[in-house]
Amino acid sequence: MLRQLLVILVFLSYTQSAFALSHLSSEDRKIIDLIVEGEHVVSMEDTKEILREGAVAVDKGVIIALGKADDLKERYRAKIVLGGKNRIVMPGLINGHSHAAMTLFRGIADDHSLFEWLNRYIFPAEVEYVNREFVQVGTELACWEMIRGGTTTFVDMYYFPDVIAEVVESCGLRALISATVIDQPSPDARNAKDSLKKGKSFVTKWKDRNSRIIPILGPHSNYTLDLKQLIDTRRLANQLGIGLSIHLAESKYENQYARDNYKNTSVNIFESIGFFEGRTIAAHVVWPSDEEIEILAKRAVGAIYNPTSNMKTAAGIAPISKMIEAGIKVGLGTDGAASNNDLDMWEEMRLATLLQKINKMDPEALPASKVISMATREGSEAIGISSIVGTLEVGKRADLIQVSTEDVHHIPTYDVISHLVYVTDEQDVESVIVDGKILMKDKNILTINTEKVRKRASEIASSINQSLKGRR
Ligand SMILES: [Zn+2]
Repeated sequence: MLRQLLVILVFLSYTQSAFALSHLSSEDRKIIDLIVEGEHVVSMEDTKEILREGAVAVDKGVIIALGKADDLKERYRAKIVLGGKNRIVMPGLINGHSHAAMTLFRGIADDHSLFEWLNRYIFPAEVEYVNREFVQVGTELACWEMIRGGTTTFVDMYYFPDVIAEVVESCGLRALISATVIDQPSPDARNAKDSLKKGKSFVTKWKDRNSRIIPILGPHSNYTLDLKQLIDTRRLANQLGIGLSIHLAESKYENQYARDNYKNTSVNIFESIGFFEGRTIAAHVVWPSDEEIEILAKRAVGAIYNPTSNMKTAAGIAPISKMIEAGIKVGLGTDGAASNNDLDMWEEMRLATLLQKINKMDPEALPASKVISMATREGSEAIGISSIVGTLEVGKRADLIQVSTEDVHHIPTYDVISHLVYVTDEQDVESVIVDGKILMKDKNILTINTEKVRKRASEIASSINQSLKGRR
C-alpha cells in the first residue's frame, strides 16, 4: 500500500514538473525581432562549413545566434520568421566600387576607351545634367537595383554626397559614401579646393551618425588632381579620422600620365607622397608592377576588382592572384552603371573568375570559394568594415540575404558555393535584410517607391535624350 502510494506520488510530481517545464519553455522563450531560416546557411566564416536546416536569429539589428532552425525556434520567439524551404541564407553582397547615380547614364556612351569615354562623354554630360535631383533619382534607381540583387553594402563615389546619404538613409542600405575630390568644374564644385571644402562639411555632418552611413573622401585619380591636392586630401582624411577611395592604376593611360608628368608609375607616385599613410580603398588596380603590389600590401590598401568595367573599357586584366598572394585584401565592384552596364554582383563574381581563368589559361585560377569571399568577407576587409559585416557571426550587424533555389537552373544542387557563383542571378534573391531591417521580402522592395523612381528616371532620361538629339 505504501509502495503504491509512493509510486503515485512520484508519478504526480514527475508529471507536474514536466508540465511546469513545457509551460516554462513556451512562455520563457525570448522575444526577438527576426529569424531567417535556410536549407543551407553559408556563414562565410568558413566556406567549407555550411549549416543544413539552419537559421540566423536577429535582434535590434544584430545577429544574436546562428544554429539549427529547430533549436533557435525553441530558444526564441521571433516577431517575424522568414521560412527556409528552398532557401540559402548568406551574408549580403558588398559592392566595393560604384558611382550609383550613373544608372541614369546607363548606355549613354558605350564602346569607347576609358580616356575617351570620360573626357568626350561622361565629364561633359555630368557638368551639364547632374544636379541634386539627378543624384537623388539615380541613386534611388541604383539602390533599387542593388537591393533587388542582394547587395547590402556599397562604396560610392559621386557628386552631392549628402543627397546620396539621404537616399541610403531612407532605403536602408549600408554605404561608404565618398565625396568626390576633383580639380575640374564638376556638378557640385568648381575645383579641387572647393570640392575638398565641401567634402569636409559632408563628412563632418554625417560622421558617427550610425553604422550604415560611413562618409569618406574620394579623390578621383592621379590625372584629375595634382600631387599637392592629393596630399591635402590625405591630410584632411587623417584629420577627420576617415578613409579614402580612389581610382588607382586603372588604365595604361594613368601610368603613362604619371610617367610623363612625374617620371614614375602611379602607385610609386602615391607612395612617394605618403598618400597610403591612412586607410585607402583602391578601385581597379589593373596595372601595378610586382614592386608596387608589395607597396600596396605593406600599406594595407584594400583593392577592388571590377572585371566587367575593365573588360568593357578594355582597361586590362588586374593581377588578382599576385595581389592575393602578396596579402592584399581584394573585394569586388561593379563600377558605375555607365561602364558595366548594371550593378549585378552575381555577374561580377562570375566574370571575376572567368576572366582570371582565361587570362592565366588556368581553370584553377580564382576558384568559386575565393570569389564568393571577395563579394562578402574579404570585400568587407578590403573596405575596412569587417568588424561589423561580411560574415554571419554573432555580434555582427545583421546584413543577410535569402537566395531562392526554386528556379530550374538550381536543379540539381551538388555544391551550394558552386551554384552561388556559377548559377545564381539577381532574380533568385528572395529577401534582403540590412541592420536587422527587411528591405526586400518575397522579392518585393519595401523601402523604395519603385513606381515613382521609374517615372522620374524615365522623365530625366528623356529630357537628356532630347537635348542630345538637338545637337546631332
Ligand atoms: Zn569608378
